[in-house]
Amino acid sequence: MILLKIEPIEKSERKIKFILSETTPQFANALRRAATNEIPILAIDDVDIYENHSVFYDEVIAHRLALIPLKFNPDELNLPSECKCDGAGCILCQVLFSLEKKGPGTVYSKDIKFDNPNVSVLYPDIPIVELAESHSIKIQGIARLGFGTKHAKWQAAKAFYQYYPEIKVVGKIKNKNELTDVCPRKALSFSDEDANVSLACDLCGECVKASEGALKITSDGTKIIFTIESVSGLSASEVLLQALRRLKAYASDFMKALEKV
Ligand code: SF4
Ligand SMILES: [Zn+2]
Repeated sequence: MILLKIEPIEKSERKIKFILSETTPQFANALRRAATNEIPILAIDDVDIYENHSVFYDEVIAHRLALIPLKFNPDELNLPSECKCDGAGCILCQVLFSLEKKGPGTVYSKDIKFDNPNVSVLYPDIPIVELAESHSIKIQGIARLGFGTKHAKWQAAKAFYQYYPEIKVVGKIKNKNELTDVCPRKALSFSDEDANVSLACDLCGECVKASEGALKITSDGTKIIFTIESVSGLSASEVLLQALRRLKAYASDFMKALEKV
């Protein structure tokens, strides 16, 4: 049984960083994969272009629309494959949108109108296309939940981790200043006879080489610094929560399958 401890280091709407201890690299990697690509994210999926007088091809505009991050309520929408409508399409698994504008001017993400009041663009000022005098654009389409494993537009976050660094003095330090200068991350410091590393240390080993064996950097897979940066409409802490729920669901499916064996 894995007993986890989570100690927050940094938390904002878009980024969360924490220390995962009493864990394993395998668990951290499963969490990384779940947070990146295995939670449902809303993105524009179908686009019907009725008018496009801009300089961009229809396909380019459709691609740009698909990559606009959308805010949504994850408890309100279903994946089409899991919806009561069996994927036929209904308000529980589809969000309709329209985009109409006449030039001259720039079409921005904030010009997209959704039929669900809980859905909106995360960044209102993403330029989509420039319209000249007498140019216009008229588009309708559908946003759906999907997974980043199928298309990058459904990617939830960038998630990554590194082992927690620990440093020991195991010999005679000749020049402390030289060692602190050699650290590319400026993570090394000394207090009396002790050496300290900050969490910026990436275990590159440069200080160990320069110390001629007087310093030893260690880490083990039971303590890990984990970072999630959201690239979707969900906040970083929502991504973490959804990723943990996804892992719990995998474990529960596995147990059910085992019970049948
Ligand atoms: S291992 Fe690299 S990053 Fe870490 S303290 Fe030493 S020189 Fe700096
Ligand atoms: Zn449905």
